[in-house]
Amino acid sequence: MKSKFRSGRSHLALLSFRPSLHSKVVSHSRFRSWIRRSVKFEKLEDVSPAFDLVINCAGIGARELVQDIDLEPHRGQVAIVPKIDNLSCAIVCDDPPLMYAIPRASDCVFGGTNELSDNLDADPTTTARIIDECTRVLKIQNPLVLAERIGLRPFRKSGVCLERDCLPDGRTVIHNYGHGGSGFTLSWGCAQKVFELAEELPGQRR
Ligand SMILES: Cc1cc2nc3c(=O)[nH]c(=O)nc-3n(C[C@H](O)[C@H](O)[C@H](O)COP(=O)(O)OP(=O)(O)OC[C@H]3O[C@@H](n4cnc5c(N)ncnc54)[C@H](O)[C@@H]3O)c2cc1C
Repeated sequence: MKSKFRSGRSHLALLSFRPSLHSKVVSHSRFRSWIRRSVKFEKLEDVSPAFDLVINCAGIGARELVQDIDLEPHRGQVAIVPKIDNLSCAIVCDDPPLMYAIPRASDCVFGGTNELSDNLDADPTTTARIIDECTRVLKIQNPLVLAERIGLRPFRKSGVCLERDCLPDGRTVIHNYGHGGSGFTLSWGCAQKVFELAEELPGQRR
């Protein structure tokens, strides 16, 4: 059944655009000399012994990496469409069917879904359902679908895992994963907490 909005609220919030946020962070002078490599680890002890501290931010990958059965993939599918005229703020409906339209600098994100699945293939029926609901709410014609995107929110039933632990080889690991659908929002605070846990280690100087 099509839902009708009977009530709602508005608030001012910061919207970040992931690609530009990511490139801003990695191009920061502090990180320019860092070595970035793509390696898939079977276990955390496989991290080179040259590093005495391991920070585990593996997202949903922590399910296998540290055998955390509390982690669930909450699949999200969105459609990227061209900029929508006169849409100056995000519109979100959290009640089923989940619906959101988020304007960005050069396009707009229509969503969405939240289901227990790790299927990374786009489902055309879902895209059609998303477009149908967003256009109904925005009272616009069907826009061109520029792209379909799928991601897995690393939902952890017992909450975010942010703690210090010890690997079997004696090295310290700081876990920081399981942020569900709030990973960007929580990232600054969690990174600060990881930093504090690392600073408390013997031999660390301010
Ligand atoms: C549809 C959708 C909507 C979202 N909406 C919001 C929102 O509104 N607000 C918000 O704040 N956040 C949102 N998020 C972000 C979400 O909250 C997640 O928390 C975030 O994407 C996960 O970030 P992460 O850095 O923990 O994990 P990821 O971004 O998944 O990064 C984990 C990294 O670890 C690597 N890795 C995993 N396993 C291994 C291994 N064995 N060896 C080596 N490397 C490994 C992966 O390759 C990856 O690079 C959304 C995400 C999705 C998918």
